Amino acid sequence: QPVYRTRDRRLVGVEVLLRWQHPHLGAIPPSVFIQVAEQSGLIEQLGPKVLRAACLEARRWESVPGGEHLFVSVNVSPRQLRSGDLSDVVAASLLESGLPASRLHIELTETAVIGDEMLAASLLDKLHRNGVKVWLDDFGTGFSGLSHLRQVPVDGVKIDRSFVADLLRDPDDLALTSAIISMAHSIGITVVAEGVETEGQYEVLRERGCDLGQGYWLGPPLTAAECDALLA
Ligand code: C2E
Ligand code: CA
Ligand code: CA
Repeated sequence: QPVYRTRDRRLVGVEVLLRWQHPHLGAIPPSVFIQVAEQSGLIEQLGPKVLRAACLEARRWESVPGGEHLFVSVNVSPRQLRSGDLSDVVAASLLESGLPASRLHIELTETAVIGDEMLAASLLDKLHRNGVKVWLDDFGTGFSGLSHLRQVPVDGVKIDRSFVADLLRDPDDLALTSAIISMAHSIGITVVAEGVETEGQYEVLRERGCDLGQGYWLGPPLTAAECDALLA
């Protein structure tokens, strides 16, 4: 799914969203299989493959004018973070693909860092030393967002789409979204809004200074081939 700079709607990156093309059942969404892969441990085989494929794909974009600046953002599950060798897997993918580390972003949910913030902080620190950026996904849903930002070094937060959904109807959601944006900016990190489904939502986010956005209105998830066509 393309990610745009809110200020001028310029394409700045792409988030990798996994799909399972099942021979009989058709396209199975990640909401169905990621949790199973997580519980069974299969995610430890799947995760590195996704990272590798993402880096190779992003490296290929370099041949397209403008494509050389795009980042690729990869979701990493709690178990992958805790497996301990994430930074090695990341380093190997970067080395093999030749993708500059600054163009790889890792997305972690708040639940991945809850509980053992010390461990999470040291793991993220390793990633940072590689030069990779880390974003906190589904931000605002975990209740203790602020305390995490204090302990866990992240480069940005992704405002959960449940806030964005009611931005124009619910004054509380508008207030919270604006608060997240100014808080994030005051500690020098980037804010991304997910689930931008209407022009109205986009305009409000732009006006409030949200840095980046993604969603059905800006651009829906694409296949790799469609993504190539978007860049060309
Ligand atoms: P997420 O990281 O929060 O990803 C955003 C989800 O919102 C995606 O669902 C995307 O298709 C959907 N979306 C995008 N724009 C809009 C919009 O405007 N409105 C609405 N209502 N939804 C929108 P998807 O692709 O079904 O992925 C669901 C979740 O599965 C992701 O949530 C992520 O947590 C997980 N996931 C996806 N790919 C991977 C992966 O490679 N590894 C891991 N560990 N998790 C993944
Ligand atoms: Ca995500
Ligand atoms: Ca999210």
